[in-house]
Amino acid sequence: MLGRIHSIETCGTVDGPGIRFILFTQGCPLRCQYCHNPDSWKVQGGEEMDTEKLIKDVIKYKPYMRNSGGGITISGGEPLLQPDFVQDMFKKCKDEGIHTCLDTSGFVKLNVADPVLDYTDLVLLDIKSYNPDVFKDLTGIPLDPTLAFAEHLNERGIPVWIRYVLVPNLTDNLDDIEELAKYLTTLKNVERIDILPFHKMGEFKWEELGYDYKLKDTQSPEKELVDQAKTIFKNHKLPIFGADKL
Ligand code: SF4
Repeated sequence: MLGRIHSIETCGTVDGPGIRFILFTQGCPLRCQYCHNPDSWKVQGGEEMDTEKLIKDVIKYKPYMRNSGGGITISGGEPLLQPDFVQDMFKKCKDEGIHTCLDTSGFVKLNVADPVLDYTDLVLLDIKSYNPDVFKDLTGIPLDPTLAFAEHLNERGIPVWIRYVLVPNLTDNLDDIEELAKYLTTLKNVERIDILPFHKMGEFKWEELGYDYKLKDTQSPEKELVDQAKTIFKNHKLPIFGADKL
């Protein structure tokens, strides 16, 4: 089964538990203002790769995965634009006893996602804002499908880690974060919440591609703001990562 791949990281440590083989797929329907990989947007870019070959590469890293509680993560772009490829890759991993993690925006039809979810152990779900207007402005798409996806994962009992990028003057409204926290208390499958402070690592790619980077003048959030956001989740007894350091 062929898929279009943007890049590969063989020993990733930030996209799911343990040491992970990370496949970044090509193509994304979102246009997030803070995207690090705008070169992953076009569906026709990247390199075509075969799951038969990829699984052989993944297997080489099994000892690292076993010792660290890791596995494979398929990220993007948006992996669910290539559901057959991701399903086949995950299926092959499950046959090898490898933990599978899907990193997604959740902007997908549920019947398209379901065959992939049959082989998914963990989902990393970005909820980029709980305010529909901010979400639309930030991503170019509506919020509802992501929430529908979150609720579907809850119904299926698939563990999820929620990720929230904190951007000054964009996603730092504490009332919106409070509403997000309340919403997350209605889900039973949230294992962890990560607040990711905004940074501009991808800015040079926007320039290279001739795209207009709207966050040029935006700085990373102060620690105090990150702590305020974390405290909101903590107050709702949600599993916020790094809460012990508050
Ligand atoms: S979902 Fe990810 S890859 Fe797609 S535009 Fe947003 S940040 Fe970039």
